[in-house]
Amino acid sequence: MNAHDSEKVVGTLMAQGYAQVENPEDAHLVLYNTCSIRDKAEQKVFHRLQQFKRDAGKGKVFGVLGCVAQQEGEKIFARAPHVSLVAGSASYTRLPEMLVQLEAGNRHVTGLSLDTDETFDTPLTRRDNPNRAYITIIEGCDKSCAYCVVPFTRGPERSRTSESVMAEARRLAEQGYTEIQLLGQNVNSYRDPSPAGWDFAALLARVAEVAGIRRVRYTTSHPRDFVKAIVDAMDANTVLCDHVHLPVQSGSTRVLAAMDRLYTRDEYRKRIEWLKTAKRRYSITTDIIVGFPGETEDDFQQTLDLLDEVQYDSLFSFKYSPRPNTAAVAMADAVPEEEKQRRLAVVQEKQRAIQIRRNAERIGSLEEVLVEGHNAALGQWIGRTSDNRTLNFTHGGAANGGSLVGQYIPVRVTRSGPNSLVGESATVV
Ligand code: SAM
Ligand code: SF4
Repeated sequence: MNAHDSEKVVGTLMAQGYAQVENPEDAHLVLYNTCSIRDKAEQKVFHRLQQFKRDAGKGKVFGVLGCVAQQEGEKIFARAPHVSLVAGSASYTRLPEMLVQLEAGNRHVTGLSLDTDETFDTPLTRRDNPNRAYITIIEGCDKSCAYCVVPFTRGPERSRTSESVMAEARRLAEQGYTEIQLLGQNVNSYRDPSPAGWDFAALLARVAEVAGIRRVRYTTSHPRDFVKAIVDAMDANTVLCDHVHLPVQSGSTRVLAAMDRLYTRDEYRKRIEWLKTAKRRYSITTDIIVGFPGETEDDFQQTLDLLDEVQYDSLFSFKYSPRPNTAAVAMADAVPEEEKQRRLAVVQEKQRAIQIRRNAERIGSLEEVLVEGHNAALGQWIGRTSDNRTLNFTHGGAANGGSLVGQYIPVRVTRSGPNSLVGESATVV
């Protein structure tokens, strides 16, 4: 989502007559887009800002965007006096106006209001990937997970109209994009604000029907709002990719309640059952937080048991990191750092074994990949399957020496590892 915010910011700046340079050293205006989901991200940002100012900052104008900007606000001007612009993502619609103020020499320009009904719904996007395009369908978040800064840094939920989303999808197809990824902190709670009133399942079904679009992905889902109609929509159209990212965070109902996640372990398992008994085979991935305050050894064991039961295809795992303004900061029974580290290592080791096994099951199968790049050192093309696996492959049928990037090619899987597959394609393209 941050990467896509950057794409929209770059597009907006270009429409104002700015040009993007290859290296920050060559820039007149330097904007740092920041994340504060974990760790002391703001400290990293300040460190990098100081370093850059020292090495190459002469005569440059600096701005801080994103969640650290929203969280730290005007304090940034005091800590980093060379910064002239501080703006959170909910204010990006005002960027052209803020740029005019910068050009006029104003050295304390801010965009920090979260009090907005607007979305950063801009056609002025400069996309980095020639095949896959991101579309934000909903911004902000109305949940209040006890560990999470997002509601504070990105503000309340605002859904875009279905008309605007569909128009963007059609425009992207016309421009030659074949894969679309719908984005939001909680895409499942999408509600079309226009009279059409589509929910997320309806939007998914319609985006998948756009002529020229071959793959549609979405992220992120919230289990509480992940309804059966979404699985039915996916089953009905193979353009909707064979992959669901469904963050569970913990396998213990007690910890889930403390996190204010609004579902129990069993309610989550029900969603997994929908996916496992669906018409198609879906890969399922998740996010896990270890060491949330009060997480006992028994709670942690329940997370490990859930991993055994679900057999995720991949997961992101994090040590709980206390964040400003969140409810969990004041909670008792912090888990010691070494114990968090141990639990993280245990989760990752278990998951690695699961992935080795699950990926090995693919050997011999024929998978369609979208070719995303080429690894010259290995002589392999880099492909991605519909279920979001990386499948690197050699290509026998010498395609007149041309690039395969952007093409859809059937590849036979011959080997596997914990994080990717290897295969061969004999198709002449
Ligand atoms: N909205 C999504 C959701 O509900 O899962 C994603 C939110 S966040 C950008 C991505 C992941 O970061 C979360 O799923 C969670 O696992 C992790 N995360 C968020 N806050 C965290 C914190 N304070 N400490 C550790 N991990 C955190
Ligand atoms: Fe954060 Fe929870 Fe919202 Fe996800 S659903 S962004 S974890 S508050």
